[in-house]
This record gives sequence, C-alpha cells and structure tokens, in this order.
Amino acid sequence: MTRIFNDPAVFADEALQGFCDLHADLVRQVDGGVVRRRRPAQPKVAVIAGGGSGHYPAFAGLVGRGFADGAVVGNIFTSPSAQQAYSVARAATSGAGVVFTYGNYAGDVMNFGLASERLAAEGIPVANVVVTDDIASAVPSETDKRRGIAGDFTVFKIMGAAAEAGAPFDDVVRLGRKANSLTRTIGTAFAGCTFPGAAAPLFAIPDRQMGLGLGIHGEPGLLDTAMPSAVDLGHELVARVLAEKPDGGGNRIAVILNGLGSTKHEELFVLWRTVAAQLREAGCTLVLPEVGELVTSLDMAGVSLTVTWLDEELELLWAAPAETPAYRRGALSAAVDGTDADDPAESAEPLRTVVPDSTTESREFAQHCVAALETARLTLHEAETRLGDMDAVAGDGDHGRGMVRGIDAAFNAAVLAADNGAGAGTVLAAAGDAWAAKAGGTSGVLWGAGLRAFGETIGDTSVPSSAVLVTAVQSFTDRILTLGKAEPGDKTMVDALLPFHRTLTEAAARGTGAFSAWEQACRAAAGAAEATAALSPRKGRARPLAEKSIGTPDPGATSLAMVSAAVVRRFTAPAPSTAHSTAS
Ligand code: ADP
Ligand code: MG
Repeated sequence: MTRIFNDPAVFADEALQGFCDLHADLVRQVDGGVVRRRRPAQPKVAVIAGGGSGHYPAFAGLVGRGFADGAVVGNIFTSPSAQQAYSVARAATSGAGVVFTYGNYAGDVMNFGLASERLAAEGIPVANVVVTDDIASAVPSETDKRRGIAGDFTVFKIMGAAAEAGAPFDDVVRLGRKANSLTRTIGTAFAGCTFPGAAAPLFAIPDRQMGLGLGIHGEPGLLDTAMPSAVDLGHELVARVLAEKPDGGGNRIAVILNGLGSTKHEELFVLWRTVAAQLREAGCTLVLPEVGELVTSLDMAGVSLTVTWLDEELELLWAAPAETPAYRRGALSAAVDGTDADDPAESAEPLRTVVPDSTTESREFAQHCVAALETARLTLHEAETRLGDMDAVAGDGDHGRGMVRGIDAAFNAAVLAADNGAGAGTVLAAAGDAWAAKAGGTSGVLWGAGLRAFGETIGDTSVPSSAVLVTAVQSFTDRILTLGKAEPGDKTMVDALLPFHRTLTEAAARGTGAFSAWEQACRAAAGAAEATAALSPRKGRARPLAEKSIGTPDPGATSLAMVSAAVVRRFTAPAPSTAHSTAS
C-alpha cells in the first residue's frame, strides 16, 4: 500500500517538492522536473533522463555531477509531456547539446521526440538514447521493441560520466548506445504495486507464485511460476541473462541486483550470494556491482538482475565518480562547478508568448473554433465513463479521463489565446499544445500534436476553404501516423481517422460543401470505429491482452469519431455565442 498522501492526484508533484527541499544543495526544481543546482563552469553535453514517477531513485535521484544534468518528471507511471522535456532541457543546457535518455515506452518516445524537434529547430544539438534492456519484453531478434527497466541505471551512468569528462556530443551518444547494446536485464515480481489512493494493487500475483519477466508498470511477463528458493531464483536469473550475452561482450561486467520497491536489502543480499557465485563461476569478473533499490516500481515486491558487459572505455565510465541525491561513488575533484543555477543571469531565457498577426476574419473564425472545442468538451465529459470502460477491457482504463483532461486544457488554452487576439490557427495550435501537456497517455500526445498541425495549416489569415480544411485534416492525420506509427488494422484511432480523411477528401473532390462533406466523413468514422470491435490490437497498451479486446471497439477510434461529430454540430447549428468562460 501507499499510505502517506494527501490528494492522490498531486502525489507525484508533492513528492518532487519534498525531494527538492531535502536536496536543495544538489538540485533545483524547474518547470517539468529538476536540474542540477549548479551549472557547469564549461559548456558540457547535458544528459537528461526521464520518464514517469514512481521509480525513485530513477530518475530525479540521479541528477548530479558525474550523472544526469536534469530529470524530466512525469506523473506516476506516465510519460512526461513534450513541454516538460523541452523546459527541463532548456534549463539544463550549457551550450554543448542535449541528450535525452529514457526507457523504451511509446509515450516517452513520442514526447521526448517532440521536445527534440523543438530544440533542434532552435539550433540546439539533440539526440535520444533509448534503453531496451528488458529481455522478457521481446525476442532477441526484436531488441528494439524491448522495454527499458533497471538497465537505465548503467546506461545513464555511463553517459553521465562521459559528459562530465567533457566528451563531445557524438561520443556521449555513441557511448550511451553502446552501453545499451551491451546491457541485459531480467526481472521478476512477487506482489503488485498500489497507486496512492487506490483500493487495490495494479495487478495481483497468486500467493507463493512469482511473475517472471513482469514489467515495471505491471505489464504482463513471460510466465507465472511457483516461488523458488533464493538459490533457485539466483540460478534462474543468472542463466537467463547470460543466455543473452551480446556479441562483443567480454568477461568484465557491471552488475545490478535491483529491488523493485518493497524487497528488503537482506533478501537481496541472500540472493546476491548465489548471483555473484554463479556469475563468477561463468568466468565473469564483477566490476563495482550494486545491490539495492535503483529503479523501482512504487511498492512492488520484486527483483531484477542487470548485466552490462564492459569494454575498456565503458569500464572507466562505469567506475567514474558521481555525486547525486540518491547515489554517490568515489570522490569528485574539489573544483567547484560554475554559478548557482538559479542565479537570474544564468537561468534559461524565459519563454515568451507572442501572438502572431491575424486578420479580423480569422479572429472571428477562431470564435467558432472555440465553440466547436466547447461542444467536443461537453461530448467527452458525457462519454468519459464509457470510454474508460472500453479502455479497461484490455488497456489501462484511463482513456476517458485522459480525453477529458486533454479537451479541458485545450478549451481553456483556446479561450485564452482567442481573448489575446490570436487568429484561428494559433488558437488551435495553442489548444493542441495544452492538450499534449495535460492529457497524459498515448492518445494525449497524438491528439495534441495533431491539433497543432491542424491549426498550423488553417493559419491566421482567412476562413479555411473546403480545400484548406481537407489539407488541415491531412496534416492532422500525417502527424498522428508519423508519431504513432500505427498501421490500418492495428486497432487504434487510425482505423477511424483514415476512413474519415478518405471520405472527406472524396466528398470535397466531388464538390460537396465543407460541412456536408465533414458530416459524411463523420459517418464513415463512426462506422469504422464500431468495426474495430472485430480487430485485435497490435499497437498500444492493449496489445499484450489482445484476445480480451476482441468484441469491444477501440476506445481511441471511438472517441475520435465522437469528437469529429461533435465539432461539426457546432458549425452546422445556429451561430455560437462569443463569450466563453474557461472550464474548471
Ligand atoms: P494509453 O494507451 O497510453 O493509456 P489512452 O488510453 O488515452 O492512452 O489511449 C488509448 C488509445 O490510443 C487506443 O485506444 C488507440 O486508439 C490509441 N493509440 C495507442 N497507440 C497508438 C498509436 N501508436 N497510434 C495511434 N493511436 C494509438
Ligand atoms: Mg489507456
């Protein structure tokens, strides 16, 4: 159980505040996460780790000299938004580029990817090093599909040490990718973890059983098996990791025996006896092994074994000193870093909000867009429970909540932008950014980015013609396809979006008026969303429980059909009022 909390909704924020107060000498809180208290004296590559909360000391606990420059801190088990990643990167960068590093999860890949696009557009060198150490999460021929778990620690540590030593940007990235390619982890869970305020654990494991290969967010594992003795468990973990020894791996290894949150150090030590002996027997030399809690999963009971095969350059970096709130190794030189990072002269340039020029026409059209968002908002509030129930069949049940959080934020941002005199394109782009920042979940990133692309195409100069509307829907669709990489038939929102786009395009080509073309497209989307019931998911969180999902339509496809229908109702109905109050 998680027993100490106030409002569960702000648990992660409050934990971060307490953490930053306690470690004020080493870190400081910024928008989106934490950065080191002191900026480096010389420009160095900024290594920025990230992911959801609930994994302490990953990731905020690893910010400090010799390790990360900043951590982007999302909600519990939820990817941070692109805005958060961007903001932490801006606060941490010292002029030699930014490397984002995180475990391989769809939400993180998309959000850090979007933040990278934004930094690159500003001329900041940026790269992403994605950790894929979990051997239970995909077969060896598909290592790029594997999740990142405790191997995050060795990969981040090696990159952090390289950057601290002044390695150039390309080298930091190369070393990070090499460390990842030489890292393997297998984990096992004994009992589920419980969200603050939740009545029951996220998942349950039968008494005297363990879930071998279970993921750090409760993702299904390889098999449930009877709980072995410590010796048998040690043999099992070592055998599985060594069986995956990568090409190019030598005999010297970094090892982590990691507790997942509520496994006692004494239990880990008992297990370590066997693990260490087995590894040595296999001819390995153990270099500065770690036993303890380094990447956790709330209060989950479980353990994981990570091995990183070291070559000469990786070993030096693994052994290099580090000083972070949660982790210290060796002694760093007494040389003091640069100035205090919250020295106003040193802080990142404030983000300015500029309202681009717009025409009266576009500003008037923006009011219709705001009204349309309001209709979508009412529709989604009404459908919240139904969408959540659909997502709970094989996913995590948060789709209704996510859509509501997204549309509320989008609507509020749109009202604000319109009140500031923005044209329709800017209003919609602002709505998209707010959606992405607040919704959480895969669908939130996709909707946010899609809406921004839609707005950018609409622009701020004129009321869109039928042709421009078609192009804007094309931009929305392209953005979602590029980011999410879903294919038709994968059972995602794409299965409603593509028929919507196709029908709209064809109707417009026949000369049908914009709104009746849109209505035809809505009917196509609604039919296609219903038809997804027959499909088995190949993307997203519902994939592992694909069979259960058959018979239920895809929640994301359903909500997309709903929103498109709600939006057009506002345009075909009598003129909207121009005064709006923001959603609470
Ligand atoms: P999460 O899956 O992160 O919990 P949501 O529950 O809010 O996010 O959204 C789930 C929906 O997102 C799915 O029903 C599906 O329509 C959509 N989705 C998931 N992955 C993708 C993807 N790669 N591309 C397009 N849509 C996706
Ligand atoms: Mg979900």
